Amino acid sequence: DSALVWFRRDLRADDHAALYHALRAARRVWCVFVFDTDILQTLPRRDRRVEFIHASVRELDEELRALGARHGVPHAGLVVLHGRATEEIPRLAQALHVQAVYANHDYEPAARQRDARVRGRLADAGIVLHTSKDQVVFEADEVLTGAGSPYSVFTPYKTAWLKKLAPFYLRAYPVERHAAALASVPDAWRAAPPSLEALGFERTNLHELRLPPGMHGAAELLVDFLERMDRYHETRDFPALKGPSYLSTHLRFGTVSIRRLARLAWERTQAGSLGAQTWLSELIWRDFYFQVLHHHPHVVDHAFRPEYDRIKWEHGKHAEQLFAAWCEGRTGYPIVDAAMQQLNQTGYMHNRLRMIAASFLTKDLGIDWRWGERYFAEKLNDYDLAANNGGWQWAASTGCDAQPYFRIFNPVSQSRKFDPQGRFIRRYLPQLARLSSEAIHAPWQARPVELQAAGVALGHDYPQPIVSHEEARSRTLARYGAARDGQ
Ligand code: FAD
Repeated sequence: DSALVWFRRDLRADDHAALYHALRAARRVWCVFVFDTDILQTLPRRDRRVEFIHASVRELDEELRALGARHGVPHAGLVVLHGRATEEIPRLAQALHVQAVYANHDYEPAARQRDARVRGRLADAGIVLHTSKDQVVFEADEVLTGAGSPYSVFTPYKTAWLKKLAPFYLRAYPVERHAAALASVPDAWRAAPPSLEALGFERTNLHELRLPPGMHGAAELLVDFLERMDRYHETRDFPALKGPSYLSTHLRFGTVSIRRLARLAWERTQAGSLGAQTWLSELIWRDFYFQVLHHHPHVVDHAFRPEYDRIKWEHGKHAEQLFAAWCEGRTGYPIVDAAMQQLNQTGYMHNRLRMIAASFLTKDLGIDWRWGERYFAEKLNDYDLAANNGGWQWAASTGCDAQPYFRIFNPVSQSRKFDPQGRFIRRYLPQLARLSSEAIHAPWQARPVELQAAGVALGHDYPQPIVSHEEARSRTLARYGAARDGQ
């Protein structure tokens, strides 16, 4: 009996649920990854995520070869295909005469449709598709209220999540113990993975960023973060500091195991670390949004709360101009513009800044959260439908357990509070670097002599604010109030 493991957003060779289950169940196990043209054709030709995946897939191939070699299996490794996954997987499974295909659950609607199609085609050929939980600690139906319904408020969800947690759920799948079941890749599929160019993509600036790909990249970032984890609760809100883990892209593509991370955080939490406790909460938010997406798939293009689908957002040419200024970091609000520069230049944006930028778009510019969500989806290296949608609906006050709509971030106070010396702003807006720590948060309020001394001509070196926060605030209160009252 033989099996095929289909890797998707789980690009690692250790603590891997599907790989483990296949190795235990079958005597010969092959592994495959498909560069899926159904997904790739929707992406720009220069996309850091494709480059990240590409490098991670190469490393996974090497890891699987090494794993096989340690257990006396020559030429184990990853079969790498380029085509439509819905066709390639059934075709390969039949060519290899396997009885079963193993994969890990994917929760996004498009992925679920793809999996249903593959499952059907495999079934026609008498092959079973087994899928397992792998990318979350608890799946959608594992943490429910006493009445058996899903949670829509985070804090009770988190309490229930923590109550359910037991070492069993965080145990690593011991892949190595069963690795002798890996099979040699037949000659026909033994070619090296295709180059990035052969896939139709170009190199990006990924190599200049502090985002090493693959399992080794995740391990490097993790070692670095473990030294800082105990201080996370104090540092995480300040974008100029190295506070967070920067592991989100690795979690997105599964180059690190969520069980491993949650285990590390939980052990330290039990030893009294406040930093670890706070970080564990973030991992719980991740599970929370996966289950929101699962139970409420309408959030993909609608407000979680239907009354907020009635909001009358700005539209037309003026809205498009405001939106372009936001995307390009030309709003005249330095913290927002620096945040957008970080996103555009690196594909990362600090969590505090994601909240500020999202709030600014929806509540200062009055633009539909879906426009911003789409822009983030295109740019973020760690883009994840569930977390991104949850984050946007939180900031736009349209989601479950969201920021109430009348609590509106003031971009200048946020800037003063979380980037007090303007260090982050200076890094991404060098044209403002010589302004004082006082003036840098709201250059239009600085005295003309100060602007002149710092070499800043507003409207020339840096824009005037495109909106007045105070006026925008009143418009937003009216806009949301009307939607809530059914107008
Ligand atoms: P850390 O602070 O080290 O957190 C550890 C991990 O916890 C993260 O890697 C992530 O997997 C998870 N996490 C943290 N915060 C959240 C959260 N609020 N919701 C869900 N998971 C969380 N996160 C994404 O992974 N992908 C997205 O597309 C995404 N879009 C967002 C959009 C908006 C508008 C907002 C406000 C937040 C968004 N987040 C998203 C959540 C959060 O900003 C990022 O996970 C975090 O900044 C990633 O950096 P890090 O790995 O250094 O995080």
